Amino acid sequence: MPQPKHAMEIFQLLDKSNCRECGEKTCLAFAGAVFQGRRKLADCPKLEREIIERFSEGDQDNVFQEGADYLEALKSKVAGADLGEVAEKVGAKFSGGKLTLKVLGKDFSVDTRGNLSADIHINPWVAVPFLSYLLYGKGLPVSGNWVSFRELKDGQERYALFQKRCEQAMKRVADTYTDLFDDLVHIFSGKQVEKQFKSDISVVLHPLPAVPIMICYWLPEDGLESSLNVFFDETADKNLDVGSVFSLGVGLAQMFGKLALRHGFPGAVST
Ligand code: SF4
Repeated sequence: MPQPKHAMEIFQLLDKSNCRECGEKTCLAFAGAVFQGRRKLADCPKLEREIIERFSEGDQDNVFQEGADYLEALKSKVAGADLGEVAEKVGAKFSGGKLTLKVLGKDFSVDTRGNLSADIHINPWVAVPFLSYLLYGKGLPVSGNWVSFRELKDGQERYALFQKRCEQAMKRVADTYTDLFDDLVHIFSGKQVEKQFKSDISVVLHPLPAVPIMICYWLPEDGLESSLNVFFDETADKNLDVGSVFSLGVGLAQMFGKLALRHGFPGAVST
């Protein structure tokens, strides 16, 4: 049996009774906590010993190794592709054997040998979607119609985890670190747009040119808590697989948390 590579695979191993004996409210929450490394599979008393042993600590190293292996596999695949043709499909620049497009406003490139280079730090959460976008994206133009993650193909079943690791994590940062939206505009080439869905702030980022992300934030009002939602263009699941869309959302949330920490706001990342 293959090792789980993401939280939904961990969820599939569970009893799904939401009995709460592990201390989490649902099995999905428990799966997310295991995926984040905050809990161990053995904390679920309903799991069979054989499954726990199969996915024990040592095996979890393999999970990360497999993630790294997947990145290497994508690089090899890109090395075997006609990068000129790929550049034309996604509207990227191609010169000197290097394909370049903008990631959060900065140059991000891959050469004909699959080597990556960029003006920003090359994190796996952006490197894997970047290569998937080149290899498997349809290169469709952005439609301008915004939808939530759960409306994307295969987004519904992952939405609870996306909400927790992306939207709630971003909301914690926005609630605490009030300069966040200015930073998104100035550091990550975001654009403040006309307020959408009656939000107080709407900012659009481009982690990939044809996969824009709109973050809408509602300030607290009349005893109601603040809220934050993330929207994607309705073509996002054609230009990228939903796993990569998930990875971009969660990766951005982690990056915002680090930004807040650097500015001295530890409360922005506490759970
Ligand atoms: S103890 Fe196991 S079955 Fe019960 S909620 Fe937690 S993960 Fe689900």
